[in-house]
Amino acid sequence: MPSSTEWSKALDAKWERYLRQQVELGGAEVVLTRAVSRSVGQSVVPVDDTVIGKETSPPSPRPPDRLTARPTDRPTVRPSWRKGCPPVPGPGLAVESPEHALLGDDLVALNTLEEVAERIRTTHCCALCPHRTNAVPGEGNPEAKLFLVGEGPGATEDAQGRPFVGQAGSLLNGILEAIELPRDSVYITNIVKCRPPQNRKPLPDEIAACIPYLHRQIEIVKPKVILALGGTAGETLLGVRKSLGELRGKVHTYNGIPLVVTYHPAALLRNPHWKKPTWDDVRIARQLLDR
Ligand code: URA
Repeated sequence: MPSSTEWSKALDAKWERYLRQQVELGGAEVVLTRAVSRSVGQSVVPVDDTVIGKETSPPSPRPPDRLTARPTDRPTVRPSWRKGCPPVPGPGLAVESPEHALLGDDLVALNTLEEVAERIRTTHCCALCPHRTNAVPGEGNPEAKLFLVGEGPGATEDAQGRPFVGQAGSLLNGILEAIELPRDSVYITNIVKCRPPQNRKPLPDEIAACIPYLHRQIEIVKPKVILALGGTAGETLLGVRKSLGELRGKVHTYNGIPLVVTYHPAALLRNPHWKKPTWDDVRIARQLLDR
């Protein structure tokens, strides 16, 4: 004859098995709180809150086991940036960059971004250079799929020698995170590599002197998509004089690379109404990366 303790254990195990079975069946969400009397010698009776059943209707399917799930079992997660994403617009301008010989530069001999950066840091090519604290060549992933171009360094960038590290840069970082492209996955640079005084727009001769660096940087990175931040970047890359309104909303090409033009992040700090159209432009660029 089993002792009363053995009976107690056997019943306890049986009861627990029953509860687990209920959970497995999935008919109810069962919370198991083992408030079971275990007094030796007493019959084991489940007390009041042993089972708190919360009916869920219909029963939720069991998630696939992490270890046994096949790829097709995994739920497809739609990234949130795709929600309400605008369709990719039609083509705009198609431009080819000028030959290095035509630009009168020897940058074609520089094969890495670091070599280009070193040339920028050690050369004075226009009237902006002598006034810089630091040149700002650009930074990011040398194999970036997305290549961003701003206008020119501001005070914080000049102080640190890095692009988009001030307030506009923080906003840009947030936008990049939102399209699931962390900053270190992209390449970021500017049309001119030295800060114009009082952050004024760079002058045509300053742009002309500096632009060969940008052309070479794009040749080295070979991005899949270029995003021009602001009218100066858009106009310069496309070699036209047009308003931002005329340049937005189309997929241009630069040496065959899709190029999207949007507002400059600094403009969004001044006018938050431009955040929504910028978000749409950025998501157009993001979709082009998936093509
Ligand atoms: N604005 C730009 O155009 N570039 C920077 O790097 C910072 C601010």
